[in-house]
Amino acid sequence: MAAILLRNGDVIDGTGSAPQRSTSVLTDGDLIVAVGPDADSRAAARAADVKVIDAAGLTVMPGLIDAHVHVTLGEPASNDELFNRREPISAALLAAHNARKILRAGVTSFLDVDGLFNIGPALRDAIEAGVTEGPRMKSGTYALMTAVGGTAGRMIPNEGTAGYAEVVRNKDEMIRVVRRQVKDGADIIKIHVTGLIPARKGEIQVWTREELKVVCDTAHDLGVRVTAHSRGDQATLDCALAGVDIIWHGSFLGERALEAIVERKVTVGPVFTFLANLAEYGAKAGATTGAQAVFAGEMEETGARLRRAYNAGVPLLCGSESGFSITPYGNWHAREMEVFVNQLGLSPLEAIACGTSTNAIALDQKGEIGVIAPGAKADILVLEGHPETDITVLGDKSRFRHLLSRGKEVDLTPIPDRSPLRGERVEAWSAVPLTWELVHP
Ligand SMILES: [Zn+2]
Repeated sequence: MAAILLRNGDVIDGTGSAPQRSTSVLTDGDLIVAVGPDADSRAAARAADVKVIDAAGLTVMPGLIDAHVHVTLGEPASNDELFNRREPISAALLAAHNARKILRAGVTSFLDVDGLFNIGPALRDAIEAGVTEGPRMKSGTYALMTAVGGTAGRMIPNEGTAGYAEVVRNKDEMIRVVRRQVKDGADIIKIHVTGLIPARKGEIQVWTREELKVVCDTAHDLGVRVTAHSRGDQATLDCALAGVDIIWHGSFLGERALEAIVERKVTVGPVFTFLANLAEYGAKAGATTGAQAVFAGEMEETGARLRRAYNAGVPLLCGSESGFSITPYGNWHAREMEVFVNQLGLSPLEAIACGTSTNAIALDQKGEIGVIAPGAKADILVLEGHPETDITVLGDKSRFRHLLSRGKEVDLTPIPDRSPLRGERVEAWSAVPLTWELVHP
């Protein structure tokens, strides 16, 4: 049956408007065709081929969009695991498995920012072709790095690829690799603008503004956008001036960077979820970074500046950084909206707008996805609870009653737990060194 009437639900349209109580939504194929009394009358006129779902007392809203996912990483607990314990075919099979988990968390679209072995574009195409089930997807491939690296220290090689990284050694190579990535199917080019250097504190800018501009100009000439991991004030300023389309983190940005972002209306996604999970729940998972206080400070300082950017009309994206052991697939995709409420002081409806209609920017599909409106794609979440007053209900999958993806109902039965694949995890000989004193206390 191609048409579905969601009858008399409380509709949150994703634009930030107040819920419309007892309102129907009619879909036909992959489109929403009517909202309100028009939906009821059009459904009545063709009753024979419309499936009716009673949504009375339930919230009807756009399927969630996650603007920052790494679907191919496979939830590593460390960089050692990520860089040394992955091989292409298992990683691809696992990514397809995990895309189904993401869908069942109410996420009907996501941007895969960067990942392993060029799997992202292939998974996107396989989902689109109906080969495997998953949300709508746009994808980057390897993250461009200079040989200084990103957040994996010395695991980044001096040239070539490793993990999600591809090292570009000079401007010619930047041009060549961007062109190859576009040929390989990248929807977006990712740059790691700041990186960690052993023995130095914080993330250091490892690209010049001129180099960033080379990547941006090359990609833009081919109609492809550029996105950047940037932790640091000068780095974020240089991203904005070089023409980066979406900046991730933006941590510790200062007044000049803020001004440049506001003036150019550069889209920013703070991706606080990873930090928030570590800071608030890390102990429950035995996290060992010891950086909890630093993360709390980063969220507070950066959050205050980003709130000013939001007030000035800068689009803020909600991304979960799903793909690590701190952010396993299917669990935390709605968490960033909660952090936006707590850290940025947004209302739940404003945060929902960020996580739906604004997040459509991540896939370059603004107006097409992330809204309940005639003509928009038929991606719809129906749940018990009132996210307009309690945003946390969006993280609770047990409340989900129906999910439409491309106009079809998704089976919301949870995906069973799996066992580790052979060779997937780092193995240790012992948890602590077996010293003589340990044996002879
Ligand atoms: Zn990321």
